[in-house]
Amino acid sequence: KRQESIRNFSIIAHIDHGKSTLADRILQHTDTVSDREMQDQLLDSMDLERERGITIKLNAVELTYNAKDGNEYIFHLIDTPGHVDFTYEVSRSLAACEGAVLVVDAAQGIEAQTLANVYLAVDNDLEILPVINKIDLPAADPERVRGEIEEVIGIDATDAVLASAKAGIGIEEILEQIVENVPAPDGDLEAPLKALIFDSVYDSYRGVVLNVRVMDGVVKPGDVIQLMQNGKEYEVTEVGIFSPKTIARDFLMVGDVGYITASIKNIQDTQVGDTVTLANNPASEPLKGYRKMNPMVYCGLYPIDTSKYTDLREALERLQLNDSALEFEAETSQALGFGFRCGFLGLLHMDVIQERLEREFNLDLITTAPSVIYHVNKTNGEKIIVDNPADFPEPSMIDNVEEPFVKAQIMVPNEYVGAVMEISQRKRGEFVTMDYLDEYRVNVVYNIPLSEIVFDFFDKLKSGTKGYASLDYELIGYRTSNLVKMDILLNAENVDALSFIVHKDFSYERGKAIVDKLKKLIPRQQFEVPIQAAIGTKIVARTDIKALRKNVLAKCYGGDISRKRKLLEKQKDGKKRMKQIGSVEVPQEAFMAVLKMD
Ligand code: GDP
Ligand code: MG
Repeated sequence: KRQESIRNFSIIAHIDHGKSTLADRILQHTDTVSDREMQDQLLDSMDLERERGITIKLNAVELTYNAKDGNEYIFHLIDTPGHVDFTYEVSRSLAACEGAVLVVDAAQGIEAQTLANVYLAVDNDLEILPVINKIDLPAADPERVRGEIEEVIGIDATDAVLASAKAGIGIEEILEQIVENVPAPDGDLEAPLKALIFDSVYDSYRGVVLNVRVMDGVVKPGDVIQLMQNGKEYEVTEVGIFSPKTIARDFLMVGDVGYITASIKNIQDTQVGDTVTLANNPASEPLKGYRKMNPMVYCGLYPIDTSKYTDLREALERLQLNDSALEFEAETSQALGFGFRCGFLGLLHMDVIQERLEREFNLDLITTAPSVIYHVNKTNGEKIIVDNPADFPEPSMIDNVEEPFVKAQIMVPNEYVGAVMEISQRKRGEFVTMDYLDEYRVNVVYNIPLSEIVFDFFDKLKSGTKGYASLDYELIGYRTSNLVKMDILLNAENVDALSFIVHKDFSYERGKAIVDKLKKLIPRQQFEVPIQAAIGTKIVARTDIKALRKNVLAKCYGGDISRKRKLLEKQKDGKKRMKQIGSVEVPQEAFMAVLKMD
């Protein structure tokens, strides 16, 4: 029976432990992709993913494997991202699987997202198959890592495969374990169709392409499907699988992972996590959907060319289709004009969206510094929610302010514990616990304001631990903090897009640092420009950008042509991302300056 030969699994791991490389090897080993077509990290199809070497969107591939028992098996492999911001994508792919291959680097051992991903797999009742990867590395210590898996995760690792995805060692063994240990999908072929939408993409030619896992029943072209959340109906035009290119099929049945197209034009109609059923024989209840993910950081996105406002809106709508964690709404800034306030799961998510907007949609954007969501209790008893520092009320109207705190788990080799504690303390962290994972490695837990994490916590942590620290965090709630809004005045004009929220104790220090930083970033103008940092009406720091001499080239005293050209080039480069604010030209970097101080 076909259903018994199906195995649906994901590969989960901390970033860089080798998920994508292992996926590549599996595709090669099963001849899904010929050697000629093979390129590294084949499933990472977005340019951005290849360049950064990280997996952002999940991908599903069907492959056939001829097992040692003489039978042919159908595998659906769903690759997942490993970064903390994309936990949402991971949980989506896991809901479509029965098993998870857990890749752990033989030299690094268990890291923060190894654990976070394991918890998600356990939540989804998946069979977990541990694989110790990179055994080819000189620093590999597979036996230590085996012990860690047993102790920290609490699963039996006796049969953990020792592998090298790079060298192609252990691949066959992993495939055999999948056949043996990952359960075939249950579900009823005769029951009404129930298919889980775990992703969707817009194709200008075919409309919305739904990525589904069929839980019950069958679906084929010509069927009229119904989306259970809104009751809308569509006639199926095509069904098929990814291999990794799309291949049309006559039907998708219980256990299958593939796609459905049905000339769905309106991207808002399809919701990831929704259930697809048949209009003439509907399921009585939808599948358990997904938890809605709430954005944790917000920033403003503004087109440099104001006529691109509508393009930006369309681009955001397009990206939101397969990224329901992305939020946006229109906002206006006195300094930057019309744009959008956008919500993201974290900084990497924000970075990726920004870059995709610029690359895939050809937009030049000004982004403002990220902010978290503050709860402001006003003296008149009103409570307001503020995700934009510019909207912060005047100090005299504020009774108190609450900010989000996270519980941060930081895993490091024990020699760096001191450094981690120092950095965490400086970031207003409150020590919770510290546990030894094994002889060498420690899990340090702090409660820290999310805004400090958003600033430069991770960068500091990485540089303070020679790159060894890994971080995972979850929101634990709001707490009252002594926070103030810092305004920045350029040429005596308040620039709303430069305002930020800061703890009172750091306000003088940060005010000073930001004006110095802005002085370096904002090019000289024809006139002197004072830069001031203010809390309410009180100026806490000031510096001046000296006026430009009339002609930059005058400095060159004729002679050196190449030097002149360089200067001109430099001026041209500087023009790229400038926004005219009042009479001053401000570069993009200035809006991020608050993140890159000291
Ligand atoms: P992912 O972030 O988990 O998808 O990790 P990747 O598959 O992108 O791999 C991260 C890095 O580790 C890449 O430079 C790979 O070439 C390397 N890598 C993956 N597997 C192995 C392995 O078995 N041995 C060695 N030495 N390097 C590996
Ligand atoms: Mg990857």
